[in-house]
Amino acid sequence: MALLNSLRMPRDCDESFIRQVETKSRQQISKCYQCGNCSASCAYTYVYDYPVNQIMRLIQLGQKEVVLRSRSIWLCADCQACTTRCPCNIDIARVMETLRFLSVEEGTVSIKDIQLFYDEFLNSVKTFGRVFETGLLATYNLKAKKLFTDIDLAPKVLKKGKLPIIPHRIRGRKKVSDIFKRFEDYRNKKILD
Ligand code: SF4
Ligand code: SF4
Repeated sequence: MALLNSLRMPRDCDESFIRQVETKSRQQISKCYQCGNCSASCAYTYVYDYPVNQIMRLIQLGQKEVVLRSRSIWLCADCQACTTRCPCNIDIARVMETLRFLSVEEGTVSIKDIQLFYDEFLNSVKTFGRVFETGLLATYNLKAKKLFTDIDLAPKVLKKGKLPIIPHRIRGRKKVSDIFKRFEDYRNKKILD
């Protein structure tokens, strides 16, 4: 009989990965004692390849490849339900976010379309000061080669004025793009250090 949710551990423990996750997320992963509250609270466990408590265990075991290539870290909606219910006060949502960053840095993103959506969302905010939904939809669908996805919904949504043709002009747009600039400078400096 096949084992459900059994952990694959193809590699030796990578201790530097454990330290890296703990340092970047500022969370003590070793405190996790596998109570399972996080997975019980997570609305997405049913689509994850590893429930979030198993992700925590895999980090403790230094399974960098398995964790950074998992689908779970990209399907996480950052809802914080796991964080709220962890008896050890581990900010698990922050750990998942850290894993997404590391996955991008390592080039191991398992669901490219989700990363593309994140990138296009942030580009939109950087350019317009807030998200321009119509532009986001168009560029995402174009780049993801999903030209006709949800096209049937367009007439209904357009009629309700939910998809403006022209982006909103907000005050302080420059300040928003300055935040992005500061982050990019910081990141480039970190890469060169
Ligand atoms: S809720 Fe906290 S202690 Fe329990 S399994 Fe999840 S991370 Fe570990
Ligand atoms: S933050 Fe992510 S892992 Fe945690 S409960 Fe929400 S969707 Fe699940």
